[in-house]
Amino acid sequence: MNGCQAGRSVNFAAMRLLEADGRMTDPARQLLSAVARVSEALLRDVRILPRDRNWLRFPWYRGSKGGGAFVMGDRIYLHRSLLEDRRSHDLLDLLAHEVGHLAHAERFDPTTAVGRARFVLWAAGHYLRSALTHGRHAYQLARIEQEAERGRWVLRELIKTVGIPTLTQVMNDPERMRSFLADHAARISDLHQRYPGWPVAQR
Ligand SMILES: [Zn+2]
Repeated sequence: MNGCQAGRSVNFAAMRLLEADGRMTDPARQLLSAVARVSEALLRDVRILPRDRNWLRFPWYRGSKGGGAFVMGDRIYLHRSLLEDRRSHDLLDLLAHEVGHLAHAERFDPTTAVGRARFVLWAAGHYLRSALTHGRHAYQLARIEQEAERGRWVLRELIKTVGIPTLTQVMNDPERMRSFLADHAARISDLHQRYPGWPVAQR
């Protein structure tokens, strides 16, 4: 679940993150598994779809604000504009957060409609409880949001070190991604240790 985090420069070459059926490419799975600590098996099953494919039309964020995403079981729904090539870096940034929710959804049999509905209700309970203690910052300070943001923080810090062009290159080749992640394993592990949480002031 996510509001708009977009609006950064899009001067780089597009990354191909998704297959035609909405599943992630092999390199995208490897990278997101490393930065978000979500198993590749879980990422293999997930499909990223435009929001007009789900009955609630989630997420409700307006496309003009950059779009957003919503995890429902083994699917991640997002605004269609995020699937455009020119938004591929925004999509990667968003997915690094969203895949964190897959681990939450996994507890509720994400392959069935009942399981997906139970997950949505469970997540809503987190936001409501957070509202009681955190008021207007309820969404961001909910425990499940703080947990999910870890992946995006690690990814952004990693990009500060290696740069987007390097990442774009290895994104096109599973073997190169594998060796890239092996080369940076210590750095990624260190970043996981240093995740400071998702401070409200950043929004
Ligand atoms: Zn979220």
